[in-house]
Amino acid sequence: MSQPLIPPHGRHVDLREYDPAFTGHVSKEQARERLPALRARLNELQDTLYADRRFAVLVVLQGIDTAGKDGTIKSVFQDVGPLGCSVANFGVPTDVELAHDFLWRYHRDTPEKGKFVVFNRSHYEAVLVERVKGLVPETTWRARYDQINAFERFLAGENVVIMKFFLHISRDEQRERLQERVDNPKKHWKFRHGDLEERRNWDQYQLAFADMLSHCNPAHAPWHVVPADHKWYRDAVIAQALVDRLEALGLRYPGPFEHLAGIRVE
Ligand code: AMP
Ligand code: MG
Repeated sequence: MSQPLIPPHGRHVDLREYDPAFTGHVSKEQARERLPALRARLNELQDTLYADRRFAVLVVLQGIDTAGKDGTIKSVFQDVGPLGCSVANFGVPTDVELAHDFLWRYHRDTPEKGKFVVFNRSHYEAVLVERVKGLVPETTWRARYDQINAFERFLAGENVVIMKFFLHISRDEQRERLQERVDNPKKHWKFRHGDLEERRNWDQYQLAFADMLSHCNPAHAPWHVVPADHKWYRDAVIAQALVDRLEALGLRYPGPFEHLAGIRVE
């Protein structure tokens, strides 16, 4: 089975056509070998982005519980220095956040020019958990696809490069990862009884993910459907996609701000 990383724009996505255990023709050894070079390249590109100051980069990570959002951040961004990179985590909204429009808290954390921000969960929760748990009526979450598209179009017009990754895992893989959280004392802190309740909503989440991928996948802010049952494949795919996108930007170190000829530092 071969499958595109980016679903065709403007078409309905059926997640059953995407195998979460897909690894293409890449072996685990090859991916593991390649990752350090990709991480180093990502760091170089980030450094140039910081100096260049023309673009900002927004990376969006979504996926069901245990899909590997935290693990991706730890692995892919391991070598990216803290100077121009940060992570924004989005949990249950606070009262203040709820009192604003739904995009407010996300807009506040978007990157400035030269910076790289990773959204660990994102504005898409407004059409995911809020839809599945019935926190807002259907007319509200349905209207949000257009509102999200308008938001991202606006950001892209302001030179924010948007890269969205949906971490796609299988139901069996989630069972194993949740069980590991129960069995491994180092992972107990990650486990909530509510996670089991959420697992019962598996099918509704898959539908909500498919709708998100179908309605909000323009060329300037594409979704990548990342097969994520194998962590080594997930990390290599995401690192490669980021490197490719950043390389295509033609980033460069700016020339001197002032005249340098003949200056001798004593
Ligand atoms: P974690 O990612 O494990 O730190 O958990 C964050 C929790 O916040 C998850 O259970 C999400 O479902 C929840 N969450 C994130 N965004 C929203 C939102 N907009 N409304 C309600 N719950 C949310
Ligand atoms: Mg959690």
